[in-house]
Amino acid sequence: MVSDASGAGLTSGRARDRLVRILEQQGIRDPRVLEAIRSVPRHLFVEEALSHRAYENIALPIGHRQTISQPFIVARMTEALLEGGPVSTVLEIGTGSGYQAAVLAQIVDRVYSIERIQALTRSARELLSRLGINNVNLRHGDGAEGWPEKTPYDGIILTAAPREVPETLLTQLAPGGRLVAPVEGPDGRQQLVRYTRTEEAFVRDVLDAVMFVPMLPGAEQ
Ligand code: SAH
Repeated sequence: MVSDASGAGLTSGRARDRLVRILEQQGIRDPRVLEAIRSVPRHLFVEEALSHRAYENIALPIGHRQTISQPFIVARMTEALLEGGPVSTVLEIGTGSGYQAAVLAQIVDRVYSIERIQALTRSARELLSRLGINNVNLRHGDGAEGWPEKTPYDGIILTAAPREVPETLLTQLAPGGRLVAPVEGPDGRQQLVRYTRTEEAFVRDVLDAVMFVPMLPGAEQ
């Protein structure tokens, strides 16, 4: 449950209901995902000057040359992660504003999220705590290394696009677990890819064309 989720005008319940209807029309079916999108106050995760556009189905800037993803993509990736079996713990690479982590936190038991820009980790931590969302753990660092202390994860979600999914992250998945990531091809185009860990191997399937910021090496202050 999210506290401080009320708002007026374009950040009101009506604007959120409209967004949820649009997502349904675009094919999002999982009621847990739709309910999470309805309950997380996206207007608090974007720059204040843009809060009146927070319930439009668009990506928006969050500072540091980064963006909060389009709600449809957040919903689609969350649905893709949940499909195929129970999910209790999720690792996210690319905390950004903390919105995707907040949406996941409505559905799963615990979310771990890593961000390479320290200022973003700080502001996300502050906002999630203000909203009373206390099942998200944040870390400042390079997501390519994963979060080995808390392995294995039932789900791993990358919200920045690598050329190839780091092997280290795949090894942090539980058997039966899924990893969802935008992966950049040699032509610069990105595809949403899902890896499912089976007993012996990883099964890879391609979902949609997407557009994310690149996954960058190392952490910044
Ligand atoms: N999930 C975010 C949006 C992600 S934007 C949200 O809901 O707001 C992508 C984020 O990935 C950026 O903040 C960027 O700094 C971060 N990032 C890029 N490469 C990274 C890496 N190697 N490790 C951790 N974070 C990374």
